[in-house]
This record gives sequence, structure tokens and C-alpha cells, in this order.
Amino acid sequence: MSSQPGGQPVAQPFNWARNVVFGGKELRSPSSVAELQEIVRASDRVRALGSAHSFNRIADTTGVLVSTSSLPPVVEVVPDGTAVRVAGGVRYGELAQQLWAAGYALRNLGSLPHISVAGACATGTHGSGNANQSLAASVTALDMVTADGGLARLERGSPDFAGAVVGLGSLGIVTTMELEIIPAFEVRQFVYEDLPFGRIVSHFDEIFSSGYSVSVFTDWRGDPGNNRVWQKQRIPEDSGDSPDDGTSGAGNGAAEWLGGRLADGPRHPVPGMAPDNATEQLGIPGPWQERLPHFRLEFTPSSGEELQTEYLLPRELAGAAIEALAPVGDRIAPVLQISEIRTVAADDLWLSMAYGRDSVALHFTWIQDDAAVTPIVAAIEAALASFAARPHWGKLFAVAPETVAGLYPRWDDVAALLPRYDPAGKFRNEFIDRFFPPG
Ligand SMILES: Cc1cc2nc3c(=O)[nH]c(=O)nc-3n(C[C@H](O)[C@H](O)[C@H](O)COP(=O)(O)OP(=O)(O)OC[C@H]3O[C@@H](n4cnc5c(N)ncnc54)[C@H](O)[C@@H]3O)c2cc1C
Repeated sequence: MSSQPGGQPVAQPFNWARNVVFGGKELRSPSSVAELQEIVRASDRVRALGSAHSFNRIADTTGVLVSTSSLPPVVEVVPDGTAVRVAGGVRYGELAQQLWAAGYALRNLGSLPHISVAGACATGTHGSGNANQSLAASVTALDMVTADGGLARLERGSPDFAGAVVGLGSLGIVTTMELEIIPAFEVRQFVYEDLPFGRIVSHFDEIFSSGYSVSVFTDWRGDPGNNRVWQKQRIPEDSGDSPDDGTSGAGNGAAEWLGGRLADGPRHPVPGMAPDNATEQLGIPGPWQERLPHFRLEFTPSSGEELQTEYLLPRELAGAAIEALAPVGDRIAPVLQISEIRTVAADDLWLSMAYGRDSVALHFTWIQDDAAVTPIVAAIEAALASFAARPHWGKLFAVAPETVAGLYPRWDDVAALLPRYDPAGKFRNEFIDRFFPPG
């Protein structure tokens, strides 16, 4: 794969985890929308690449891979202050810093600020919080370069919009998105550790309603094991614009909670790793964008050498699903770095993993050993088979396409949308063909 001279460094021929070598014949990095339009117009096969943080071949193409990182990094708050217009290739962390400086916030962020806005939205990326929807749910409009090299704008409420936002990169190359914003707020986070494993199920609702954004980390080893709660509280507690913005008061800096102890120093989500790349803890308040993610923008996120898998299922099934996975725990643990459990509020985006249902997300950060991880992923999928578990579009999974299709009520509508926007299959790749076979 060759790279285009000039501009910012182009994206690498590998994804972030280096488990995918992109197969495209060319890597381009346009510096203007007009140049991007010309590339799309002239290509038989083309695909957008965001920050390459997906773990599967969703971003791959046999044709021209187009990095969005050199397009003008537009960040403009609209005049009435309700939304920000942002270039698709801008990373959430950079957007967030500019919003904070201007007195604004997004409602939520994923665990890392390093991912591009359009790439994250394309796969239904989410953070945590009973009242917090997927990041894509805050999109109010998008502009994209379509298969013929033209420009299209879709706004919330228009017929195709809900099918296009979590679009898996297959309707066009998004140049800008408009995202809802709210007044800036501060967050503080506490970590509780050494909880008895059983409390995760028995106190699930108490745990996840105890903060604005809550994550449970576990290694599935049971007791004793690494069972932690990361609690992110919005300050002041009643500052929010949604009912769950405050806290139930549980945990919240008390020395003990649910049989666990307040951590006496900063922690990394992966047990044993130095906390340097983790966001500030110990209840110290700070800007929303420096507490809602687990990882700091200026450091490598997570462990840096890993694979990931995640499933979203109806939140009311959380306890039963965790109990169904517990017997697989002794097979999960040896190939796991850490698992994270989060909640995500329902949205109406057709391919969002949280479409139509308040969800629990069961995430696994694996060691970087595909051969060792693959059978365990299969075991997890078998254990979750009766829980309507939707795999994360950007992570590793093996659920059969027809099973995935049956989990999305608007699947056929998406299947109809793809050829309408991309009649010649220009944006298609092997990943998309598997789920939406060409007609
Ligand atoms: C360390 C780590 C932590 C993570 N944490 C979370 C988390 O907390 N929550 C979560 O839900 N996920 C998480 N993920 C997964 C990640 O958010 C998704 O894989 C996301 O899609 C990555 O965004 P990206 O910009 O890297 O997209 P890429 O991987 O580059 O692309 C993903 C898809 O988006 C498409 N795309 C990219 N840009 C555009 C564009 N401009 N127009 C149209 N389509 C486009 C691509 O074609 C591809 O289909 C994590 C991943 C890593 C590596």
C-alpha cells in the first residue's frame, strides 16, 4: 500500500491493535472535501478510515482507503449554542478540549478520547450511564460525500437519517457531523475495589444508578478476584438535564461500599498496570472530558497490546447474562486483561447496538493472541445465545450474520438503504458483504 505525499501523516496500513493489515491498493489523505470528492468519484472501491481503532476488517477495502485525518479540522459551535459542527476525522479528545474552552460539553464519551467522531459514530460506540445513549445518538445532522462524488446532507427527522448515522461506513464518507451540546460540567470519579463478585448481580441496579457514568471491571475469577466499580459523578449533582444525572448517594467517596473498599490511590482499569494513562480519580473534580473517558488523550489508551470483544443486550437481562457467563470464567480469565460492564440508554438508530432497548454492555479486553482468544469468544457467544446479544460492530465477534440480522428490527430497511446510496457497491468490503450480501 502506498501513501499520498503531503499533509498530515497518513493513517498506517495497520489498525491500532495491529491485528488487521489493510488490504487496499492505495492510501490517500485528502486535505479538502473537493479532493475527497474527486477520489471517490474516480474510485471503483473506496472506504473511509477514521483513527483505525476498530479490531476487525470493517474499515478495510480492496480499493482506495481514505484517511480523514487531513481534512480541515472544523469545530464550530452553531449560533444558538445547541450543537457543534465538527469534521468527521476530528478526534473526540480534540473536540472536547475546544468545547470545554468555549463552555460546552458533550453528554458522554467512550473509554478513550483518541477515536474520530465519524468512525466512532459509524460503529455505534458508547460510554456508560443509565441515561447516556450511544455517542451517535447526539448527531443531529451529517454531511457526506456520496458514491457519485456528490454531497448529501441528512438531518435528524429526515427519512434515511436513523439508518445513516450508525452507517458502518457504507453510505458515504462523512465530512462533518453536528452533535448536540450542553453547558460544560465537572466530573469526579471514585474507584471501589475488591467487591465480592456476587454483588455485581445482586446490586446491579444500585451500582449503575450510583453515578452519571458507572463501569464495573471484573476478571471473571470470582472471589477473590479483581472486581471494581468506577463511579463518575457529575458536579453539581443536580446540574444535569436528565433524571439520572445525579447519584443515588451510594459509594460516592465512602470508605466502604458493597463489601468493597475505596481505592487509596489511582488505578488503571487493567489490574497491575501503572495508572499514568488513566484519568484523574480519588474524587478530584475536573473537566468532563478529563474524567468521563478512562484514558488520557496524551497517552496510549488501555493496555496498548490487546484485542477486544463486546456485546450489548437488554439491560433487564444483565443479571442472568452475567450468571450465564460465570461458569465460563475459568476459561475467560487466562486470556483476559480485564472485562468491563457498562449501561447504555436506548436510541433509535437502526444499527446501533442499543437500538430500541436500554442495554447492558459486556466488554472483554483480551491478550493479543487471536488463536487463544477465538475459542473463548465462541464459548461466550454460546453462553449468551439466548440473550439477544448484539456484537459491537468495531470489535471481534463470530456471531452468524443471519443471527445478527435477527437482532435488529430495522435490518431490512438498512439493506434497502445501501444499494440506494451506493448502487455500484463502491463502499462495500468483505465485512459488509457478509452482513448485507450484494443484491
Ligand atoms: C483502546 C480502545 C478502547 C475502545 N473503547 C471503546 C468504548 O469505550 N466504547 C465503544 O463503544 N467502543 C470502544 N472502542 C471501539 C472503537 O470506539 C470503535 O472501533 C470505533 O469505530 C473507532 O473509531 P475510529 O475512528 O478508529 O474508526 P475506524 O476503526 O477507523 O473505522 C470504523 C468504521 O467507521 C468508518 N468510518 C470512519 N470514518 C468515517 C467517515 N468519515 N465517514 C464514514 N465512515 C467512516 C470506517 O469505514 C469503518 O467502517 C475502543 C477501541 C479501542 C482500540
